[in-house]
Amino acid sequence: MNRKRHLSVVLVGRPNVGKSTLFNRLTGRRRAIVTTVPGTTRDVIEHPAEWRGRHFEVVDTGGMFGKSHDPLHALVLERGRRAIASADLLVFVVDGREGLVPGDREIARVLREADRPVILAINKTDDRRSQAGALEFYQCGFDHVHEISAEHGTGTGDLLDTIVELGWQSPASSPGQEREHASADEVGIAVIGRPNVGKSSLVNRLLREERMIVSELPGTTRDAVDALLMWHRRRFRIVDTAGMRRPGRVARSGQIESVSVLLARRAMESADVAVLVVDATEGVTDQDAAIAGEAEEAGCGIIVAANKWDLMKGDGRDRAKEFDEELKRRLKFLDYVPVLHISAVTGERTPRLLETIDQVAAARTTRVKTSELNTLIQRVASAHPPPSRGRTETRILYAAQTAVAPPTFVVFTNVATQFHFSYERFLVNKLRESFGFVGTPIRLKVRRRTRK
Ligand code: GDP
Repeated sequence: MNRKRHLSVVLVGRPNVGKSTLFNRLTGRRRAIVTTVPGTTRDVIEHPAEWRGRHFEVVDTGGMFGKSHDPLHALVLERGRRAIASADLLVFVVDGREGLVPGDREIARVLREADRPVILAINKTDDRRSQAGALEFYQCGFDHVHEISAEHGTGTGDLLDTIVELGWQSPASSPGQEREHASADEVGIAVIGRPNVGKSSLVNRLLREERMIVSELPGTTRDAVDALLMWHRRRFRIVDTAGMRRPGRVARSGQIESVSVLLARRAMESADVAVLVVDATEGVTDQDAAIAGEAEEAGCGIIVAANKWDLMKGDGRDRAKEFDEELKRRLKFLDYVPVLHISAVTGERTPRLLETIDQVAAARTTRVKTSELNTLIQRVASAHPPPSRGRTETRILYAAQTAVAPPTFVVFTNVATQFHFSYERFLVNKLRESFGFVGTPIRLKVRRRTRK
């Protein structure tokens, strides 16, 4: 069949949470739908829907989840997984009146692994009994939460807005845009920096390091060459080393500069950790700051390697302190980044660099327990409440970590959809103080609890 497939929005949830009511509400149908999708089980029904000029399919998984007494019954789960796998976007429907029950947690876990955007729809919030129960669901760790009443249509317009917003930005709806990932147990490393700071020398040094098994393999991006090295049972993939090995790179200075930013950007697309090499003898330049900014934006872990440190000794001054202070001044936004003084030529502290890469990669994939996170956030927010705008006092209701790599947190509030930059920074610093996160950017989003 060659028909262009519409974006598929799949409703998932335990029986009786209100999936079919929501299905009818979203598709504008009054009665139960009986269309079956060829080749699938009769449990799946599908119907087109339209919102703000966007067309999509809504799929109801019916009683697939939690129909048997054991919600993880193998067959049920298999069918459920297939439905989830076919989705571009998932709407996880729960019953706000009942509150969070173990069956919801199981489904939440499956959905988190699905690697698709998930919208949590807390249903039946027209009922007073849902007031307390609804808040519990925020701990499921989903980025988008709507409190709705499928029966009365409350909040379903906002839900549709989010479907359209996510559906038309999700990578699944535009194939080929998906970021290429190195395999899960591998750490992708991008060695970035201006020309002549010593990137190639460093890469070659790392590849010559003792006990290193090195192999060259096609890169994750086109024309790229990656080098794979094993270190203490870890697999490190130095991405896109092709540009570094090309001899005689000559270009006019302006050209060189933008090329190094471009190369950095490309390497970082498939990297977990960026090693920003700077020439210690030259100090930190604007160009270094620009490349560092790219790394932060890409969400890579970052380490600064101040190279050519062998040339920085001899006159008895503590050059390290001076250098670090200048670095801090120039790269203010990178105060969480480890700095190593290395020499690609002598091999000074290059083993230490591998250790640090390993630590940063681990920090970047750290998941904080929801309970610990909320204890911290509540403590911090009661000592230093977020600034209020207008007459309504801004309160933080709940926080959840919604992603790793980089660690991403959502803070739900009663009113604000954005905090002042300095308050966001304050919260991020508190997260760092409590949970480490060395070398990794942290993303913080603020959302208003959508309660009508
Ligand atoms: P790239 O353009 O960033 O890949 O830089 P290269 O690795 O080609 O190095 C540029 C120049 O700096 C070469 O002449 C290297 O020999 C020299 N170099 C690189 N690392 C060091 C170092 O740690 N110490 C010293 N003294 N020279 C270095």
